[in-house]
Amino acid sequence: MINTFTPQNRILMGPGPSNVNPKVYDALSKATLGHLDPQFIELMNDLIKLLQYTFKTENNSTFVLSGPGSLGMEAALVNLIEPDDKVVVCVGGFFANRMTQMVEKFGGNLITVKETWGRAIDPQKLEDTLKDNPDTKIVAFVHAETSTGALSNIKTLSEIAHKHNCLVIADVVTSLGACEVRVEEWKLDAVYSCSQKGLACVAGMSPMTFSEKAVHKILNRKSQVRSWFCDYKLLMSYWSGEKRAYHHTAPANQFYGLHTALQILHEEGIENSWRRHKENSVKLISKLKEIGLEPLVPEKERIPNLITVKIPEGVDDVKIRLELLNKHNLEIGAGLGELVGKVWRIGLMGYNSNDKMIDYCISSLKDVLK
Ligand SMILES: *Cc1c(COP(=O)(O)O)cnc(C)c1O
Repeated sequence: MINTFTPQNRILMGPGPSNVNPKVYDALSKATLGHLDPQFIELMNDLIKLLQYTFKTENNSTFVLSGPGSLGMEAALVNLIEPDDKVVVCVGGFFANRMTQMVEKFGGNLITVKETWGRAIDPQKLEDTLKDNPDTKIVAFVHAETSTGALSNIKTLSEIAHKHNCLVIADVVTSLGACEVRVEEWKLDAVYSCSQKGLACVAGMSPMTFSEKAVHKILNRKSQVRSWFCDYKLLMSYWSGEKRAYHHTAPANQFYGLHTALQILHEEGIENSWRRHKENSVKLISKLKEIGLEPLVPEKERIPNLITVKIPEGVDDVKIRLELLNKHNLEIGAGLGELVGKVWRIGLMGYNSNDKMIDYCISSLKDVLK
């Protein structure tokens, strides 16, 4: 006999997934629809509208990729990059580093702008790199670098890229929904996110949007897109037009969950959500400092919904996180890449961004650190 599976009801305060609103759980368990059912197509159309609101864009090419944020990253890069295109990636952490690996796989000519882990990308470095590489086609960067806790000023980075006639790929995986993101105003050309971070849903979906300029480049490629699943044209045959064609079987129940999470965000008002995340982040940081935990990132460069703190000298990283999990049922994130063993990553996202969670996190940390 195999036992039924009952997961622990954890408090999830890492880099995502976070706890989701019970209404999202309800939505996930509604009756499954076929992926071409007219009612399901209506839901897809509603998702597009909700995402246009969330991304702050009117791009027609806005949709959800059935897969995690990493697949969104692949889709943005693989559609825009043609072999030997010069691509500048601004790297200040683990996730931007993942972009560089993909650029190489897709045959791009990779140039990196290197930033210290834990700092926002210095716009001057991008400016200098583009001056040295006037034939660059694409500039790619991460808004909220979840591995370090640093938030870059992508409005400025995008301006610089466009001044040098480049298309812009922006990763808003952690920031979307929780911090200010304005796709249209900031002229971001290919943008992807995920469902389980700032959007406060379960994992496995990647909202995306492409500008007209990006679509123009894709439709005028000389070479084939080096991916079947992520091919923009094939995806659009499922996501747009009067007659929809089967591309893959969309995970209907997951889409219900995302629809509900986006509706909740819409009801709150996205600007109010940005404000709530900012205010709660300030509260959490001041309480973390009181118990001797110092943020890694300078004040003006912090991601509001993901705070990295330095692990104090002599404290056992793994032991503390295990104790938090076993004794307090609380998950926080470990360091990644260069920051393994050096920082903890504390998420305060979506449904979890409130006073109760701040207090729970602080009292649990205080207990295990004493
Ligand atoms: C989490 C994350 C990703 C990858 O998303 P997955 O859903 O884990 O595939 C990409 N970029 C950033 C900035 C992230 O934080």
